Amino acid sequence: MRSSKYLLATIKESPADAEIISHKLMLRAGLIRKLASGLYSWLPLGNKVLRKITSIVREEMDKSGAMEVSMPIVQPAELWQESKRWSQMGPELLRIQDRHKRDFCLGPTHEEVITDLVRNDYSSYKQLPAILYQIQTKFRDERRPRFGVMRSREFIMKDAYSFHINQESLDESYKVMHTTYCNIFTRLGLNFRSVAADSGSIGGSISHEFHALADSGEDEIVFGKDGKYAANAELAEGNLRIPNKKEDKKDYQLVDTGTAVTIEEITNLLKIDSNKTIKTLLVHSEDEEGNVSDKLVALLLRGDQELNITKTEKLKGIFSPLKFASSQLIEEQTGASIGSLGPQNLAIYKFADLSVEGLCNFVCGANEAGKHFINMNWSDDCSYDEVADIRKVTEGDTSLLDSSPLEIKRGIEVGHIFQLGTKYSESMNASVLDKNGKATPIQMGCYGIGITRLMAACIEQSHDDRGIIWPSNIAPFQLIIIQIDSQKSADVETMSESMYASALNFGIETILDDRDKKTSPGVKLNESELIGIPHRIVVSPRTLERKSVEYTDRRTGEKSELNIEDVEGFLKKVVMADKTSHL
Ligand code: ATP
Ligand code: MG
Repeated sequence: MRSSKYLLATIKESPADAEIISHKLMLRAGLIRKLASGLYSWLPLGNKVLRKITSIVREEMDKSGAMEVSMPIVQPAELWQESKRWSQMGPELLRIQDRHKRDFCLGPTHEEVITDLVRNDYSSYKQLPAILYQIQTKFRDERRPRFGVMRSREFIMKDAYSFHINQESLDESYKVMHTTYCNIFTRLGLNFRSVAADSGSIGGSISHEFHALADSGEDEIVFGKDGKYAANAELAEGNLRIPNKKEDKKDYQLVDTGTAVTIEEITNLLKIDSNKTIKTLLVHSEDEEGNVSDKLVALLLRGDQELNITKTEKLKGIFSPLKFASSQLIEEQTGASIGSLGPQNLAIYKFADLSVEGLCNFVCGANEAGKHFINMNWSDDCSYDEVADIRKVTEGDTSLLDSSPLEIKRGIEVGHIFQLGTKYSESMNASVLDKNGKATPIQMGCYGIGITRLMAACIEQSHDDRGIIWPSNIAPFQLIIIQIDSQKSADVETMSESMYASALNFGIETILDDRDKKTSPGVKLNESELIGIPHRIVVSPRTLERKSVEYTDRRTGEKSELNIEDVEGFLKKVVMADKTSHL
């Protein structure tokens, strides 16, 4: 490929609306262009990388024994009505009508379509297990598309679905997919973690997310230093970094706390640690139909701990999404104000977090303005109804598995695997005959990888202040040959053309920057770094005088001079070996 004929649409300045580095670099390097909110076109350079990522994913999926299919993006409403998701899915599902006013949607995922396919084409347990996958465009009308292709509305996903006669077989394929995902992310050179996503409880997890570690990640993930425990922070569990001490119980006292209401104000006033206080939060409950109710529920947490909203929303009786009570409702129902709430004589159903279960001689609100109790202990008057884990794990808490300290890092969710069980096969009536000829609902698993998000994640992890640093196996080109000042010496063109020809001959994907007269050397050199080509050769009259060219390794920035006679050998050895070593 020649730069003079290639759409190298690089931009010098960072576009104003790009917040994170991968978004900035993808626009600046000319990989993508925004069409509308959450919709992007792929330019030639970006498209090349996309194809390479796709082929790595495809190779590993094929290796796992999965079969590639391709299903329509437009899906009939009837299938979604069968699974009940037509009504359950909110505005993320883009619904459309055809000319006959029939309802359809743009597929945000394909469980319904694949279940329909399998119920028609599979009939016996003998045909199972089976894993089917596709690599295809999805549409989700995200509430807040952002960060470029990281959270877009249209994106490419590899989605796979597995089908089994029993749980044991599902477990086996789930493991194979887990390994396949690890292989894919390793080949892409990512620093990633697989974390429990469905349940933080040890052992019984049926869903894992794969996160590429990056400060810009939208998720928080928690893991033990030895790597044994790993979970999404939304669900992570742990032992308190500072456990509650057993103490002799003292007699409680009512004290004036004046205008001090926050934990910080109270601890400053009373000269105590926040881990000796209890905070009481009031939220709305749900009625029997699952609607929000004005009946309030209390959540009790140790003062130094924070509420984990996801865990709390899972508790029976609490309305989800979590809704905090207004100060007016709190006063109406308790006679107290937000800053003076406490568990004593509080006639409201109370969930106590594990952090307050064994707490002694604590400080809490007295349900009276300007008053708190000190040295309070659990008793008939000061009690809770249920213990639950509703706190956020914090750095330094210890693993329930082996007491090793927990670390918290940010991650980009690049993949998600899930055991669906019979959720879809039962609602959509997908069964096969078992050994005894009895119809049995099919056990299912589903497995997704965000292909386009994956590219952004690779850039988040591999760049410097000059631009992208592509791992060789997904770089759009392996080698860039830049000719400089060809007007000053005819040898420049002859030499670079001959190197270009031999590189192509060796099967090295090469771009020749032949835009000599129009583009300045500085622009060309900067651009080659911005677009992240791993190997660069600069042919200029200055080095040709010495019968050499200048080589630069993009990753290390190291430069060396190559004798022109050695260039072919160098290309063969370094560039080709680099390319194959990552495959
Ligand atoms: P998220 O929590 O980020 O919204 P999700 O749980 O909705 O993700 P899944 O339904 O599990 O995602 O989809 C599988 C994969 O598709 C995700 O792991 C992610 O890599 C990718 N993905 C999901 N939504 C988007 C999006 N809006 N833009 C780009 N990739 C996405
Ligand atoms: Mg989502």
